[in-house]
Amino acid sequence: MSIAKQLYQLQELDLEIESNEKTLDRLESQLGDDRILVEVQNKLTSEQHRLDELKHQQHSAEWEIDDLVNKITIAEGQLYSGRIKNPKELTSLQHEVDLLKSKRDQLENKALKIMDEVESAQASIAARSSELNKLETEWHRQQQQLSAEIEALKGKLSELGQGRQLLSAEIEPQAVAVYDKLRKQKSQVVVRIEQGICRGCRISLPSRELQQARGGSLVRCSSCGRILFLP
Ligand SMILES: [Zn+2]
Repeated sequence: MSIAKQLYQLQELDLEIESNEKTLDRLESQLGDDRILVEVQNKLTSEQHRLDELKHQQHSAEWEIDDLVNKITIAEGQLYSGRIKNPKELTSLQHEVDLLKSKRDQLENKALKIMDEVESAQASIAARSSELNKLETEWHRQQQQLSAEIEALKGKLSELGQGRQLLSAEIEPQAVAVYDKLRKQKSQVVVRIEQGICRGCRISLPSRELQQARGGSLVRCSSCGRILFLP
């Protein structure tokens, strides 16, 4: 086998290793990434705070209503007791009762609105919790799958690495050194010659370079410097 062909095989292997390493990086960056869960959890927490606040408002309104109902009962008790005879005092008392009832009605309307808001907040929290549960289940499933994929990929990379060692040991060290040096600058450094053209830079090769390549010696394109491989 010509050195160029051996180097071409080495490059194929290196490209496969690089592609798998990229995949490994991508998968590892996804491992433990729970941003989506945190986001939904934060929304849920803020909805729960809102619900607590609404319930507090609801209780305050209920206490105020109870207080007003007591005051109304006392005032009406006085009004209808028959003990107050003075018409001015009776009118004033009646006015106070009307005022208290109007306040109570307003508060009752307010309490109803708050109750509606409490119900819709509770419904929203229930939906969000169920969404979070589903997301967590799915997230754990994905993470397990991710871990398994990462393990498999690491195994594959270790095999590829061993394969590379074996392959490069079979190639003349000087040629491997040239190849390794070129690979630091370019991804594709061993290129095919097709119809007398360098596939790296698409320049027609001089016949001397073609002949050398045919002869099996290590030839580099005089234009782009890549190692030429004649399949
Ligand atoms: Zn070239």
